[in-house]
Amino acid sequence: RAPGEKSPLKVLIAAPRGFCAGVDRAIEIVEKAIDKYGAPVYVRHEIVHNRYVVDGLKEKGAVFVEELDEVPDDMPVVFSAHGVPKAVPAEAQRREMIYVDATCPLVSKVHRQAERLIEKGKHIIFIGHEGHPEVIGTMGQVPDGQMTLVETVNDVAKLPFTAQDKLSFLTQTTLSVDDTAEIVRALQERYPHIVAPKAEDICYATSNRQEAVKAMAPACDLVLVIGAPNSSNSLRLVEVAERLGTTARLIQRASEIDHEWLDGVGTIGITAGASAPEVLVREVVAKLGEWRAVSEEKIRTAEEKMTFKLPRQLTE
Ligand code: SF4
Repeated sequence: RAPGEKSPLKVLIAAPRGFCAGVDRAIEIVEKAIDKYGAPVYVRHEIVHNRYVVDGLKEKGAVFVEELDEVPDDMPVVFSAHGVPKAVPAEAQRREMIYVDATCPLVSKVHRQAERLIEKGKHIIFIGHEGHPEVIGTMGQVPDGQMTLVETVNDVAKLPFTAQDKLSFLTQTTLSVDDTAEIVRALQERYPHIVAPKAEDICYATSNRQEAVKAMAPACDLVLVIGAPNSSNSLRLVEVAERLGTTARLIQRASEIDHEWLDGVGTIGITAGASAPEVLVREVVAKLGEWRAVSEEKIRTAEEKMTFKLPRQLTE
């Protein structure tokens, strides 16, 4: 190489990556709500777990709060894609507020399953991560004490139920496909009669992004996952790469990349969680291009064509 010439860096880009249909829809709901009702429109919880997206919507007139009691009665409010406990829309109705529910339809599907299982007299074991808003929302679909959270295989061993109890299980939509399979296996071993969901609750976007990382990571010296530290599906992508023996780092923006991370790296993989926009992927590739002679290659493992309709109140 001539002096000053950049050394080559192969950049593999996972596909699918980034925005899923539920995130697309949630962002559009906030934008359409601002168009329809005028700014400000309140949003309970980060609409999706991405600072870039949240800041962009703030500029357009969204005001983010954590709880409904921070929203004045006469202001419209949007509920985030992660879903909310039943008590939240009930309270909005009681206060006669205008509200729009941006809960992803795939999360709502789990909510409806939970209700049906309780009607059938089943206790629900819910596989998920404690404290995540989706878990709080789903557990809030049923009366207190009717759903028990497990996070690990170890938690399954500690459950107080007997094999004769009427049990069922459901899962969070953004879990690790492999970890969940292990937990389900442990549940089915201990409770052979446990009722499983009709179809996998882990959503198409979560499993597709994990599959793409599985295909890409073995060829990489380092994988960068663009996503927020509170984004469940992004954290899972880091784990998937690491399990295959590839170092992986979660970053929110290109500015977080340390030049030293690239020492000895000939091939780097990039993916993005379901709440991270493509512009941040391009920003990362551009940053790498400042240091190295980048050649890009896409590793595609699935095509995605899913879209979800907007709530009728915003399209009429
Ligand atoms: Fe819906 Fe899955 Fe996207 Fe969550 S990650 S918003 S469940 S499509």
